[in-house]
Amino acid sequence: MNRKDNAKQQMLIRALIFIAILIVYLVMQGDLFPSDGYNSPAPTAGPSLWNSDGPTMEVHYIDVGQADSILVSVEGEHMLIDAGNNEDEDLVLQYLAEQGVTSLRYVVGTHPHEDHIGALDGVILNMDVEKVLMPKVSANTQTYENVLKAVKKKKLKVTAAVPGDTYELGSAVVTVLGPVKKYDDLNDWSIVLRVEYGARSFLFCADAERPALQDILNTGRTVASDVIKMGHHGSSSSAYDKFLEAVNPTWAVITCETGNDYNHPHIETVEWLKENQILLFRTDKQGHVAAITDGQTIEWNMEPTDDYSRGIIK
Ligand SMILES: [Zn+2]
Repeated sequence: MNRKDNAKQQMLIRALIFIAILIVYLVMQGDLFPSDGYNSPAPTAGPSLWNSDGPTMEVHYIDVGQADSILVSVEGEHMLIDAGNNEDEDLVLQYLAEQGVTSLRYVVGTHPHEDHIGALDGVILNMDVEKVLMPKVSANTQTYENVLKAVKKKKLKVTAAVPGDTYELGSAVVTVLGPVKKYDDLNDWSIVLRVEYGARSFLFCADAERPALQDILNTGRTVASDVIKMGHHGSSSSAYDKFLEAVNPTWAVITCETGNDYNHPHIETVEWLKENQILLFRTDKQGHVAAITDGQTIEWNMEPTDDYSRGIIK
């Protein structure tokens, strides 16, 4: 080896040492392998609808505790089904703001119980609202009066929900299935809606119980749906097997709060879902639950729960 070769070799070794030090430095700085939780790529089976630019429908089951509030967004148009309890106004308005919702084509107050229309007045007063849909029943409560006052203040009118009526939301079709009759129990007055988008469908049962569900079946209208929002927070009074068999859902969503006073969801409800291998989402265990569909595929923002237990184990 001559002197020239020796010098070349030394330069090469210095270069290698420099590169090694640089790699160690970058790894320690986290530049090569950022330590913000994205080290390994998320498992994906092809492109997700959540990142799609194409037309989609999103359904958000907002976690408002022992109450209901559901946002349906289709191609830039929005419908809010219920708005939680009175104290949920900020939560619901903030959720809508986060979703970029500034106007609501439809606001639905399914029935005059506080856990459904509590914050509806706040939503109507603070948002640009086109149509307010409610059942043709009133209640002698301050909460109900406040909703009517808000409607009046915004120079709107309440549209009565009539079974068989349909409403357009983007290219989705919203069909009113209930209430079919007059009832003694306010829960049975619930507006029940079926939303169809392409080949996929979502059913929203509010707090409708067995008599109301039977009346809907008797009309012969289509109830079959891919997703069902279970009636009355998973109460056994709404887990009517004949109705659920006709709906034949793949997924079910229960909206309730951990440790609620009503023991929701009832064990009969969750056992029926488990026995029939229906995948379950529940806001008490999982928080805000959301689905997206392009009219063919339905994707969720999380895995279904494997927790088919009731609200409180006593
Ligand atoms: Zn309720």
